[in-house]
Formats: sequence, structure tokens, C-alpha cells
Amino acid sequence: MTQQKYPPRHMGTMMGPVDPSAFENALMQFEAAAKTMKLTDDQVAMIKEPRRTTEVKLPVRMDDGRIEVFQGFRVQHNIARGPAKGGIRFHPDVSIDEVKALAFWMTFKCAVVDIPMGGGKGGVVVDPSNLSLGELERVARRYMAEMIDLFGPDRDIPAPDVNTGPMIMAWMMDTYSMHHRDNVPAVITGKPLELGGSRGRASATAQGMVFCVREAAQKLKIDLKKATVAVQGFGNAGSFAAKLLREDGCKIVAISDIGGAFHNRQQGINPDEAIDFLREHKNLKGFERSAEVSRFDDPMVLLEEPVDILIPAALENQIVKKNAPRVKPKIIAECANGPCTFDADAILERNGVFIIPDILCNAGGVTVSYFEWVQNRMGYYWESERVLSELERYMVKAFNDVYETSKKYKVNMRIAAFIIAIERVTRVSELRGLYA
Ligand code: NAD
Repeated sequence: MTQQKYPPRHMGTMMGPVDPSAFENALMQFEAAAKTMKLTDDQVAMIKEPRRTTEVKLPVRMDDGRIEVFQGFRVQHNIARGPAKGGIRFHPDVSIDEVKALAFWMTFKCAVVDIPMGGGKGGVVVDPSNLSLGELERVARRYMAEMIDLFGPDRDIPAPDVNTGPMIMAWMMDTYSMHHRDNVPAVITGKPLELGGSRGRASATAQGMVFCVREAAQKLKIDLKKATVAVQGFGNAGSFAAKLLREDGCKIVAISDIGGAFHNRQQGINPDEAIDFLREHKNLKGFERSAEVSRFDDPMVLLEEPVDILIPAALENQIVKKNAPRVKPKIIAECANGPCTFDADAILERNGVFIIPDILCNAGGVTVSYFEWVQNRMGYYWESERVLSELERYMVKAFNDVYETSKKYKVNMRIAAFIIAIERVTRVSELRGLYA
């Protein structure tokens, strides 16, 4: 089995000063909004820190007979507005700090789009490319079994994230259902269609981003038919982002994944060719030999492409203080969670970059996950058209709520999104009051 190489993130590299961690960044965003809103200390105390943090060891029998022990996390940040909701990430760099940040963003993301869910997130420290299919299944099932008391359709509902997808959701749903001696599809979202998944879930994150980009382009007077786009990360979110924006008339000039970064500034890149390439290869390494593209020597330079729309769709902490001055698209549409640090935001704002922040921009995923949960509980399944039109309604309203708030408070879109979300979470916390 080949060892998959994960490019280093900026955080904690030896290249320069250490950037704040993902959770530190999340808290700085929160504090900036809390200050603008003049939140009281009690209000901050109720919603800032995660409610429950769980860490487990997962002993798994490997194919060669050895037992390997993996580390797993689940963080429930806030459950005032409804059951915790958030994906499970499989990645060698997963840490409790990262999962706390991701759970935190989920609380406020669900509130921005106004769905009745709280915030949660999970992770396993594992490089899935080093596992056989059987080993991957045993890790997934053991994770669900170890965490089973935390989960439930009214308690905490996980979903896919980096390196997890419908297959893993199916194994986890089956494990939960076996323990409960019941069929419980609503315990997890992002399932295969045949097992109660929702139509439109696979492309939902990117589709939600496209609804936001269309609104932003209208406000900024950008013609999408003439717009150029660069996409960092070509997985679930990034590949659909490239495909859907191309359908809107944009030219995709650069894409990347862990196998490298590629560009074709003249003709553009056809995302379908990259998707076809990925059917036979683990990542985009070698893509330049099968398509009309050139390879960037340094994949991080993709972020500095002079494009109209930049889509970070990989991991957090990609645009930091050091490279932010060179990142100058008209719009950054954050499909990834936390790709821009708090320090980078200030530089980007000074340079006139319009950021559609993650807790708004990528909320299409959790919104259709919510629709999936609703359909599972109704036992009645919607056609694609209904999913798409409901998603559009939620995303367009959320975008315009955030835009109006940014004008009202004279703050950027990220702080505006937090203001709306914090207001909603705080209101519900106060209505519920304190037990005992
Ligand atoms: P994925 O595993 O399907 O894809 C991740 C992609 O990023 C892969 O192509 C991988 O090769 C690439 N990548 C990893 N490190 C990279 C690097 N340093 N440089 C360039 N490419 C790199 O994951 P996904 O579900 O598409 O998630 C991507 C991001 O979107 C994450 O931040 C995730 O939290 C966020 N997100 C996803 C969803 C969803 O529904 N899938 C919803 C909301 C937010």
C-alpha cells in the first residue's frame, strides 16, 4: 500500500511564526462579533466553549492480524437550537483543537441558515489511504460503537466530512441500527440514496456556494459568464464547485488536490476530465499527462492566481498572514471550513476581497443534511427539484440576511454572519433558561 503524502498546513510549520490554531481563530471571530454586539459576560459564557468533548481509543484488527489503536473524537459544541449536527473527518492530522473549531463553526452555521440544529463534529486520526476497505469499515463501525450513547436522531446526527462519504455513513448507520434493534436512518446523514439519503446531498455544499456566489456577483456587478475561477481541493465540495460554476459559464483556470495543482489560463480546465481521471487514480498526480494543463511547482501558488473567484475547498488555515497580501481575487467563496485565518481576513479586507464566509458559504451541505433527516423522519422522499428549490430559498435568504447585517453594523460578511448566528443561539439559550 502506498503512503499518501499530506501537504503540510501553515499552522506550526518551520517556515515562520506559528499561526493561531483553528480553534483560536474561531474564538477570535466570535469575540470580534461579540464585541460589536456588546454581548454580556453571561451570554458569552453560555455559548462560547463546547458543551461536551469526548475522546476514545478505537482498537481495530488489521488485515495482517495486528491490533492497531486509533484515536477518535466527538465534540458537541452547542445543542440549544436542536440536536448536534456535524461531520466526521478521517485524517492523519485530526486533533481535538481542530474538532472543537469545526464543532464551533457548525453551531453558528446551522443558526445562519436557520435550521433547528446545534453544532457537533467528529474525527479519527487515521490516513484512510493506508487502510484496506475491510480495515476502513472496522474503524468506522468501531467509532460508532464507542460513541453510540452520544448519537441519536434527537441527540447528535453525524455526516460526512474530509475522507468520509456515503459508504462510511452506511456502515455507521447499520452499526447504530444493529445496537438499537431498529432501522434508524435519521441517526446519520449523507447516506447512499438507497439507504435513505437525500437527492442532491452529494452536490449540496457546492450548490449552496453557487447560490451565494450568484448573489455576490449580482451585488458586485461581476458577470459570471466572464468570470475566472481557481479551486483548491478537488474532493466532494471542490469537484462539484468547479463543475457547477462551469455550468454557470465561469472558466475554471486552476484546480488542485493532494496530488498537485494544475492550470490552463487560456482554455480553462474541464472539471469532468479531472473527475474522469480520479476514477482511475487516487488523486490528481500526473493529471498534466492526460489533459491540456500545466503543473504549478508549488501548489500553494494556486491561491495567488489572479482570478475573479477563489474557492478554497480543502482544509483550514490555508490563507494566513504570510500569503494573504498576495491573494487578490474579487471573491473568496469558502467551501472549506476555516481556510482564512483571522489575521488574513484583515489583510484581505484591506485589499477589497469580498469573502463569503464558511459558515454561510458551505452551509448548503448541512441544509440538505437537515432535509435528509426530515425525509427520514417523514418516511417520504422528495424529488431533486424540491431539494434544489428549498436549498435555494434557504441560501438566498441567509446570504441576504448576512449582507444586510454587514451593511447595518459596517462589518465584513464573516462578522455579520456571526452576529446573526449569535443572536439566534443566544435568544434560544435565554428562552430555555438554565436547568437547576
Ligand atoms: P474530501 O475529502 O472529499 O476532499 C478534500 C479534498 O482536498 C481532496 O481533493 C484532497 O486531496 C484535497 N486536499 C487536502 N489537502 C490539500 C492541500 N493541502 N492542498 C490542496 N488540496 C488538498 O472533503 P470534502 O467533503 O470535499 O471537504 C472539503 C472541505 O469542505 C473541508 O474543509 C470540509 O470541512 C468542508 N465542507 C464539506 C462539506 C461536505 O458536505 N462535504 C460541507 C461543508 C464543509
